[in-house]
Amino acid sequence: MNKTAIITGAAKGIGRAIAREFAMSGYNVCINYNTSEKEAKELCEELKKKGCNIIIFKADVTNRKEVDKMIDYVLGTYGKVDVLINNAGISEYKLFIDITQEEIQRMLNVNIVGVFNTTQAVLQKSMISRKDGTIINISSIWGMVGASLEVAYSTSKAAIIGMSKALAKELAPSNITVNVVAPGAISTDMLGALSKEDLKVLTEEIPLGKIGAVEDVAATVKFLASYEARYITGQVISPNGGLVI
Ligand code: NAP
Repeated sequence: MNKTAIITGAAKGIGRAIAREFAMSGYNVCINYNTSEKEAKELCEELKKKGCNIIIFKADVTNRKEVDKMIDYVLGTYGKVDVLINNAGISEYKLFIDITQEEIQRMLNVNIVGVFNTTQAVLQKSMISRKDGTIINISSIWGMVGASLEVAYSTSKAAIIGMSKALAKELAPSNITVNVVAPGAISTDMLGALSKEDLKVLTEEIPLGKIGAVEDVAATVKFLASYEARYITGQVISPNGGLVI
């Protein structure tokens, strides 16, 4: 396979599982990280030992200049970008009346502007001229149904769904698909904000009876990037154990 995928926020959690899944399937993979350099390097070494083609690049997705440098580096190394997976994201678990202006701004910057930055950069530098590409944006069930104590997060994740649907229409004539993966509760650091009791209650609400694994999300993303998913665009696929139906 001569396909290249960029995964943002891929040193940890869901992004790490996606990077592993794509690399082991034969993609050239760029692992983007911001602060988790040690984890990014470890993953890179692990996958290289298994014969995978991997590069890592530090870029804050909110910084367009850093994002441009990352895309140029990927193009210089692999020549094209076939798949962009916008996974980097942050959450904040607080009452709406307590969240600060700075926290709101940071949330919108990382979870929305970050996705705009990377998406515009890969479109301008590779996908539009090649008339080929797949963009997969990681939203959340809370962007579909809203979560108490996560108003800013839910807002940002709903915005990604709106953005993806509009962009899917705009890019279809260029043979580029845009889809959303909206996971339910997945076992990563992000769930660390919940107490043991909250986690127990949440698990009891999930029809399949368990918190999801990062690999469950990675499998969905891999399917959406596959040839078999070529007629799917503008859709929201939600690996959530039945929590939202
Ligand atoms: P995580 O373990 O906290 O990982 C978040 C990742 O985002 C980290 O790798 C982090 O990179 C990266 N990131 C944050 N700010 C960044 C920035 N400015 N520039 C570049 N990268 C940045 O969380 P996760 O659970 O894997 O979440 C991954 C995605 O899934 C997020 O979009 C999240 O909203 C979504 N999601 C998660 C769940 C869940 O239950 N876990 C459910 C639904 C949706 P560094 O560590 O390198 O800074």
